[in-house]
Order: sequence, then C-alpha cells, then structure tokens
Amino acid sequence: MRVCVVGSGGREHALAEVLGRTAEVVVTPGNAAIPGSRSVPPEEIDADLFVVGPEAPLVDGLADRLRAAGRLAFGPGADGARLEGSKAWMKDLLAAAAVPTARYGSFTEEAAALGFLRTLPGPWVVKTDGLAAGKGVLVTGRLDEAEDDVRAKLAGESFGDAGRTVVIEEGLSGPELSVLAVCDGRRAVPLAPAQDFKRVGDDDTGPNTGGMGAYSPVPFAGAAVVGTVMDTFVEPTLAELRRRGIDYRGVLYAGLMLTPDGPRLLEYNVRFGDPEAQVVLPRLTSDLAELLAAAAGGDLRRAPGPAFGDDACVTVVLASEGYPGKLRRGDVIEGLDAATALGATVFAAGVARDGDGRLVTAGGRVPAVTGTGATVAAARRHAYAAAGCVSWPGMHFRSDIARNVSEEARTA
Ligand code: AMP
Repeated sequence: MRVCVVGSGGREHALAEVLGRTAEVVVTPGNAAIPGSRSVPPEEIDADLFVVGPEAPLVDGLADRLRAAGRLAFGPGADGARLEGSKAWMKDLLAAAAVPTARYGSFTEEAAALGFLRTLPGPWVVKTDGLAAGKGVLVTGRLDEAEDDVRAKLAGESFGDAGRTVVIEEGLSGPELSVLAVCDGRRAVPLAPAQDFKRVGDDDTGPNTGGMGAYSPVPFAGAAVVGTVMDTFVEPTLAELRRRGIDYRGVLYAGLMLTPDGPRLLEYNVRFGDPEAQVVLPRLTSDLAELLAAAAGGDLRRAPGPAFGDDACVTVVLASEGYPGKLRRGDVIEGLDAATALGATVFAAGVARDGDGRLVTAGGRVPAVTGTGATVAAARRHAYAAAGCVSWPGMHFRSDIARNVSEEARTA
C-alpha cells in the first residue's frame, strides 16, 4: 500500500514512521528531517490512502476534496471537523448527545459574556471558539484576568476572528487523559490512552502550548476507564454526528478530565494529538496502514483491532526560545544523532536546512524526543537522557514530563 501523510510536524513524522513499517509512505509537505517529504499538493500525489494530520486542512475540507476526487481519505470532512473548528458547535453537540462536560455559555457580546462569567465561582475558563493551535484557552483563578481575556478575545485583539466568539466554562479539576478513537462513521476502536502536558512550564505553570510532552500507557486509565470513555463519550458523539448526517471517518480524540464527579469532556480534536501520536503510535504492534484504510473505507471490521506492546513511551518536546510567544528561528540544532544513538526516536517538527545544509530551528516546537522502556519511569529516563544530547541557543523543555508516574506503575 502507498500512503500519503499530509502535514509537516512531529505527529506526521510519527505517522510516517509507523505507517512505514508496512506501507510505502510519502509525506506532503513534510519537513527537512522527515524521510519521504515532498512539496507537492496532496491532490497531485498518487496514493492508495491519504492520512490528513493537522486540524486546519480538515476544517478546510481537504478530506472532502480528496473523496470527491475518488481517493481513500482518513480524516473527517469539514462537517465533522467542526467538532474542533468551533468549540461552541461542539458544546451544543455534546448537550444534544448528553455527553458530560463543563457547564458553559458561548458569547459574541461583551456584556453578556462578562455577566455569565461573574455567575461562575471560579476558576474561570475562557476559550476561543475557532482554531488557535492549542493556545486559545485561558484557565485562571483571577476574575479580572478572565474579564480582560474575554474583552481581548471578543475584540479580535488576541486571536483574530477565532476569538470573536468565546466559550466560557466552569473550571474543573482532576487528572487529564487523552483517549483517541479510530472511527469508520459507525464504529470506533480506542487506541492506548496517553497523558499530555499543555502548559509551557514545569508543574503546569505558564501559558498553554500545543503540547510539551506526553506518555503512554497511563497507569490510572486501564480497560475499565477506556470502556467508560467509549460508552459515555465516543459512542454517543458518533451517534449524534450520524443523526446529523455526518459520516465521521477519522480520529475522534477525547480530551478528558477525571473529576471527583466522574470524567468530563474538555475538548474533542479531530485528528491524532501532537505529541500524543509520538507516544501512542510507536507502541502499536498491529498494522496501522491496514487499520486506517479500513476506517477510511467505512468498515473497521475489515482490519484487526489495534494492538499495543507492553513497552511504555515518553516524549519530551524541545522548544525554541520564546515559545509559545514570539519565537527565535534559525539556530543550528546540535546532537540529534547522539539522541538517536541512545536508541531514542526523534520526531521533527519546526526544522529547516540553512544554506550550509545544517538543520536549524524554524518553529516553536522543534523535535519531540521519544524514549521507550519496560515502565513509564524507564521510558522517562531514556527520553530525558536523549533530550539531554540535543541543544541550540535558547532551547527549553519541561523537566517534569511523566515525573509523577511511579516506578512500578504500568497499565496497558
Ligand atoms: P482545550 O483546548 O479545550 O482542551 O483546553 C486546553 C487545556 O485547558 C486543557 O487541556 C486543560 O488543561 C485546560 N482546560 C480546558 N477546559 C477546562 C476546564 N473546563 N476546566 C479546567 N481546565 C480546563
């Protein structure tokens, strides 16, 4: 099978690597460090299966255009991708499907938004309705900060048009969990759960980012928790999508918080997570290309269900100076070979070649370094040993990814 992966980040690198175990893979546009990268529009590439990595082209209807051209595409159409493209639409759909989620209101008018905000006890959560690369969410214990954020978002100052509608939510607390399900429009199968780390700083400090690290498996998320997530969140959502005439073929990624009152849905993403893909996909022992082709074809029963090995994975994202704010670019990246020599896998995102052919930084999140081990703790040591080989001026990363997972803990 020949598979075309669309995208240019670490997630697409992980997809390409794992699909490449059983398929021939081309990546568009890819990047300077992903083998098989080609700067050709996907519509012009000849492949048996297209796997669309990022949310923006899905929201923009790339999967629809590929299907209209008779191609087999894994990824929802623009209709289903609204789950991620509009948080207000997503929250309304959750209400229709009776999926447990935080109490919320969506607003375009400042006075109404501030009025609702002040009825909530706090902490306060203010989200852009539209896409904001994972950075459009403010969670704060200060009402004045939440009010300022509502004003800046609605005025289009902080996130442009994506923020002209805001979703305001009650703040929940508890451990977070990502469960990614592969869907064929009717059926869904879960992948191994992961936990990701969204804030830029250790101990969950600083602003939200696209994701600074992740690990899988998650000791507190065994088969029973995954079963609950499928029954309470994924299946009712797929059924509601179908009721609305939406044939959802792709990843439905449930971002959950396990609160004292039970699991609550924080967000849906409509694609593999980044960096969750960098820890979940390498653990697969079954054939990813076959699974995604079956889902794209509308019948998951044609492929064996996903199977995972016992080894754990931890990934640490190495970021450029200034990320997630104003970035510095063009610094020469040293030490990637030393990291891979330790047996870690480097998934490259914001990289380019300079005039001398050297790999340089070209984005906020640069490589994600994935370590493996018999336990999460062992995988963590492996990932950090490898990350310690890599450097460039201003590079920063979190030092606490998977730190709180105990030495012995393991749950597949
Ligand atoms: P989202 O993009 O909606 O997943 O939000 C990004 C991050 O903000 C989540 O991973 C949580 O850490 C945090 N968050 C989102 N919604 C809430 C909420 N209602 N209560 C507390 N934290 C939240």
